[in-house]
Amino acid sequence: MLIIDCEKCTACGVCETSCAFGAISVQGDCAVVNESCTLCGACVENCPVEALRIDIGEKRSQADADEYHGVLIFAESRHGKVAPVCFELLGIGRKLADQRGVPLSAVLLGGAVRGYASDLIAAGADRVLLAEHPELEQFREDIYASILEQVIGQYKPEVVLAGATAIGRSVIPYVATSINAGLTADCTRLEIRASDGMLLQTRPAFGGNIMATIECPNTRPQMATVRPKVMAPAEPDPSRKGEVLTVDLPASLLHSRLEVKETVVNTEDQVNIQEVEALVAGGRGLDSAKGFALLRELAHELGGAVAASRAAVDAGWIPYPHQVGQTGKTVSPKLYIACGISGAVQHAVGMQSSEVVVAINRDKNAPIFDIATYGVVGDLYEVVPRLIQRLQEIKK
Ligand code: FAD
Repeated sequence: MLIIDCEKCTACGVCETSCAFGAISVQGDCAVVNESCTLCGACVENCPVEALRIDIGEKRSQADADEYHGVLIFAESRHGKVAPVCFELLGIGRKLADQRGVPLSAVLLGGAVRGYASDLIAAGADRVLLAEHPELEQFREDIYASILEQVIGQYKPEVVLAGATAIGRSVIPYVATSINAGLTADCTRLEIRASDGMLLQTRPAFGGNIMATIECPNTRPQMATVRPKVMAPAEPDPSRKGEVLTVDLPASLLHSRLEVKETVVNTEDQVNIQEVEALVAGGRGLDSAKGFALLRELAHELGGAVAASRAAVDAGWIPYPHQVGQTGKTVSPKLYIACGISGAVQHAVGMQSSEVVVAINRDKNAPIFDIATYGVVGDLYEVVPRLIQRLQEIKK
């Protein structure tokens, strides 16, 4: 919290003008802080009489960083396979661990997951911390979080990484809050600062208009979730050697307040748009859900899948797992065809690393043309059928 020493405060108002959040003001002869304070520290730095300080409290006190050693990734598995993002985490985790000269561990939780340990070692892990139990077959936040907390407490990694997947986004904030550690969500770049070994966590901010680099100087471990498909996966080396250590699972850790009644597979969500090479994406320009039938035809000809802008998802034309962008998925297919999508920055951040972008839009000034490799100015309902026809002719 921000502590104001009214004995020292001269009510000069410098803190008030230096606060970007309108959180501090001079009332009478002393400054007063309100609930908008983010503890950014700007007022503390600018106070000419050192009347302000931030008290990070006992629980958030400077951890003894030397006690923390190593990089740990959360190896998430579901429906009989390790999530692809785990191999991307191992790719970046290996680089960070090598730079720090520390081991890279993967914590693997599940019902029957022992078989995946060798894949994780081949992809870069030095050791796999195996938490295997029938109670872990179904993902439940409270049990998974308790086990991760125990592992972090026991192995004291300096860095913990997880995928920014539905599971990672749900369990890792739970863990970070419990252990009072800092967490940066949805990172797109991670690196170690050579001078002090600090993890620099970069992610888009303000709608993707700036890249913010965040560090956690006061707490350990430094925790981050990483967007799938942003980091390169490690090249597997089956000859790599590593150890598999069993995590102690006392009954108290396996107690959950959640009961999973049934797991239902969403048939509309069978295709993971992050894993296909050709995406045909539709936006508000489709005008109705029926437009996706046409896009599906084109996607079928290309052996790909359909994706969407948030406007199309919000309109209820297609389910959320197809959404690309800041609040959807990041994709980087070989081919991305944007149909009736304007190219708002929040959409662009999710698809601009695609190899080839084709934009079809009837407005020649649409921003999507700024990032398109090829642009077609025209009505998508005229252009797409012709593309389908041409592809069918070529195939014949
Ligand atoms: P519009 O901007 O309305 O564009 C429709 C386009 O279709 C127009 O360019 C028009 O010329 C063209 N068109 C119309 N009819 C035709 C036709 N017959 N043939 C060809 N072209 C046609 N958006 C996302 O997509 N993903 C996100 O994750 C996301 N996250 C967001 C997060 C925040 C915090 C905020 C504030 C916004 C977010 N948005 C996101 C919304 C984003 O700002 C845009 O509103 C949205 O992307 C617009 O979708 P659109 O391009 O489909 O629609």
